[in-house]
Formats: sequence, C-alpha cells, structure tokens
Amino acid sequence: MVERFDVALNTPAGRLTTAIDVPTGLIPITAIVPVTRRLGEEATQLEAQQALAAGQTISCKMGCAACCRMLVPLSPPEAFSLREYVEQLPTDRRTMLLTRLRDTKDRLTHAGLWAQLNDVAEASKPIPDAALDPINRSYYALRIPCPYLEDEMCSIYEARPAACRELLVTSPAELCQDLVQNPVTPLPIAMRIGSILGLVWGTLTHSPPRLIPLPMALEWAEQHNDESRQTWPGASLLDQVLDNMWRFLSQEFTNRRNPRNTGR
Ligand code: SF4
Repeated sequence: MVERFDVALNTPAGRLTTAIDVPTGLIPITAIVPVTRRLGEEATQLEAQQALAAGQTISCKMGCAACCRMLVPLSPPEAFSLREYVEQLPTDRRTMLLTRLRDTKDRLTHAGLWAQLNDVAEASKPIPDAALDPINRSYYALRIPCPYLEDEMCSIYEARPAACRELLVTSPAELCQDLVQNPVTPLPIAMRIGSILGLVWGTLTHSPPRLIPLPMALEWAEQHNDESRQTWPGASLLDQVLDNMWRFLSQEFTNRRNPRNTGR
C-alpha cells in the first residue's frame, strides 16, 4: 500500500509540483532515496530550462566524463542504496566493479589518501570546507577515473549519486579538463540532495551529518550494515526530506538575492 502526496516546492528557477508515492508502512532509509533524487533532478531541470531561456548552453553530454575524476561525496542513505544496487548486479559485472574498487583503493592508499578519506567518512563532527579542500585537491591531482566509469560512461547511471546528477556546467566543455585551474561555470544548485539526505540520516540516527567519499562507499555501507536495517514510517521520512528541502531553498533564495553571502 502506498500513500500519494502532492508536493509543491518554490525554487529560485520556478515552481516544482509533483506527486510522490510513499509506502504506508515502515520503510528503510534507502526507500526514500529515489524520490528524493527525483525531486533534486526536477529542480535541476528547472535551473537548466532557465539557463537555456537566458541563452546559455549546457555543455555536459553523454560520453564526457571529465568531472568523473573528482571526489564525489555521498550521504549514508545513498551509500546504502549503492550497496543494494551493486549487490543485485550480475556476478561478472559485480566482480569487475569490485576489482576496480580494489585497484582504486590501492592507488589511494599508495598516495596516502585512503586513511584521510576514511577519517572524512567516520568524522564525529562536520568537517569544515577549509579542511576538505586540500583533500579534494589531492584526490583530483591523481586524476583517478571513478571506479564506476567504463569507457568514459557511468556504469551505474540509474544509481549514480545525487552529486553527479547536480553537476552541470554552462562554460565550454574544454575547460572541464582542469577543474581546478579553469574558471568553469556550474549551473546553480537549488538544493543539494546528498546534504539533505545526510541531514535526515543524522537526525534519525543522532549522528553528525557526514558525507562518504564514493570510492569507499560500499565498504562504509558494509561496515554500517546494521544501521541500514532500521525502518521508519514512510510519511515521516518524506516529511523530514521536505523540511530540509524547504530550509535549503529558503537559504538559496537569500543567497541569490545577496550573492555576496556565497562569494558568487
Ligand atoms: S558515479 Fe558515474 S557519474 Fe558519478 S563520478 Fe562515477 S562514473 Fe561519474
């Protein structure tokens, strides 16, 4: 049995209205991930439509994976979701993926980064951007292709993290070859779905909001498997998601009215 909710969100790029079906009983956190991502994607589409109407071009296209060398952060619910997704893959695909993940771990360990990423994933309090920035830069400097990348295409497209769905640029694609040195122009993000899911999870489990680096997401999810088995009423999970979305959107309206708040 599902309950249908009509959702309306005012975003800086327009009003988003949609219907969401949520199971009436108790559900695990992973059950709310797809609808949360869908709301994020619909908000991104509004941003893209607004950019196109203003004469801008979205440069991101299938087969361009320049940004798939950056460190992608996942919320715990997304890490659990990714693990579920990988577990149901055919054995040969799963084996190939796990081999690439192991190779990536070896490279990161050799570069002295794996332990730092682990500290990020297990931090007992939120890590300030200033502390994350050098880690992100060191990771990007290695130019390690995402372990889920195959022939410059995302092999987990339907299950890819929210952070991957949100990153679109309106600057020329060539600039993405060096995302540190070049002044790329990302499409504004009205609400960061990974952060929203992370905040919901933090509230539910009384833990600090955390983001898990993608290369270690499966390991992290395995180590925290017991937590993933907890369940909550579906409507209450959706309420918490929407509550955090409204807060993000309210902040985003303020930031866009006062760009100096964000340095934009
Ligand atoms: S998950 Fe997919 S889209 Fe995201 S960085 Fe990896 S290959 Fe790229």
